[in-house]
Amino acid sequence: MSQQPFLPFSKPTIDEATISAVGDVLRSGWITSGPKVQAFEAQLSEYFGGRPVRTFNSGTCTMEIALRIAGIGPGDEVITTPISWVATANVILEVGATPVFADIDPVTRNIDLAQVEAAITPRTKAIIPVYLAGLPLDMPMLYALANKYNLRIVEDAAQALGSSWDGERIGATGDFVSFSFQANKNITSSEGGCLVLNNAEEARLAEKYRLQGVTRSGFDGLDVDVLGGKFNMTDIAAAIGLGQFAHIEKITAHRQNLARHYFKCFGSDFEKQYGAQLPPADFENSNWHLFQLVLPERKDGLPARATFMEQMQAHGVGIGYHYPPIHLLSLYRAQGFKEGMFPVAERVGRLIVSLPMFTAMTEADVERSVAAVKAVLKAG
Ligand SMILES: *Cc1c(COP(=O)(O)O)cnc(C)c1O
Repeated sequence: MSQQPFLPFSKPTIDEATISAVGDVLRSGWITSGPKVQAFEAQLSEYFGGRPVRTFNSGTCTMEIALRIAGIGPGDEVITTPISWVATANVILEVGATPVFADIDPVTRNIDLAQVEAAITPRTKAIIPVYLAGLPLDMPMLYALANKYNLRIVEDAAQALGSSWDGERIGATGDFVSFSFQANKNITSSEGGCLVLNNAEEARLAEKYRLQGVTRSGFDGLDVDVLGGKFNMTDIAAAIGLGQFAHIEKITAHRQNLARHYFKCFGSDFEKQYGAQLPPADFENSNWHLFQLVLPERKDGLPARATFMEQMQAHGVGIGYHYPPIHLLSLYRAQGFKEGMFPVAERVGRLIVSLPMFTAMTEADVERSVAAVKAVLKAG
C-alpha cells in the first residue's frame, strides 16, 4: 500500500561522535568497566541532584539488586503492576519473594494506588511502581503510602529518564530509582541500566552485588562476604550512554513535541469517532517514551490488536505492544494467578498498542502514523 520506507515503532539514533568514542574505547586497551563507567556515573549522579548512582549491564538487574539491598527475600511480598515488562515481576521471584499484583488505573494505565493499599498485608515489604510510557505516578501519594506502611519503594523508571513530577526530576528524589538503557529506551547504552541509591552504604553494597560480592583493599586484598553476580557495565556501553546522555534534554523536548503533534493530528473528536482511547495529554511530567492507544474491540470478533498490527504493517507503519498482563503468563499462572483477577489490566493489556515514537521521527512521520491509524480503524 505504502511507497514510503517502513516506519518502525522505535529505533535508536547514535551520532558519529558516539561511534567515534566507542572506537576510542576499543583502541584504548581497556574495554570493560573503567573510566567511561566512572564518568557516566558521575554525570548521572549530578543529573539526579548528587544522589549516588551505579551503572549495570541491564535495567532488570538494578531492581533485583535494590531488592537485595533492602533485604527482601523469601516470605516477603512485593506489590507491582500487571502491565509492565515481565522483568518487573521476575526480579521479585529472583530474590525468592512473592509477587502481588494490584490493578491499574484505566486512564494513566499505571498501578492504582488505592488497589495497592488494599493489597498490603503484614508481609508486604516493598512496592515496585512502573511509570508506563514515561508517565510517573503521583509521587507525594506514592511516598505517603510507603511511609504509612513502612514500605521500601523500587521505582521501575526504566521508561522515565527525563520525566518529572511537579517540576522535580524522577530519580532526584525518592527511594531506589531504576532506569534502563536498553536499545529502545529514550537513551541507550545498547544494553544497560542504572540505580539511584540513598547513601554511600547502599552504593557500596550495590557495587558488591554487581561483581561477585568482591571488596578489594590495598595491592592484593580481596574478600567476598555476600553472594554477588556479574552485572557490571562495560566502558564500550558507557561510551554509548555518555554520547546519548549529552542529548537528553533535546530528546525529551523533541518527544514532547511529537506527542503534541499526535494529539493535534488525532483531533479532539478522535476518541468519540473511533472508539479508541488516547493517553493522558501530559506535557509537564512525561518524557513520552511511548505513545499508546487502547483500541476498541472489533465487532466482527477478530482479535483487535493482532488485526490492527497486521493492517498497520500493510500501511508501512510498525506497532509495538507494551504489555500483555504479566499475571496471565504461564510462569505466573503457575503461581495461582488467573483471568478475572485484574480486569482493567486484562482489558488494557489485550488492546494497548504503541505507535511510532523515537528520536529521529519527524512531524511528517506522525502524520503518516495517524493517517494509517484512522484508515485502519475506519475499515474495522
Ligand atoms: C526496559 C524495561 C525494563 C528492563 O530493562 P532492561 O534494561 O531491558 O533489563 C524493566 N521495566 C520496564 C518498564 C522496561 O520498560
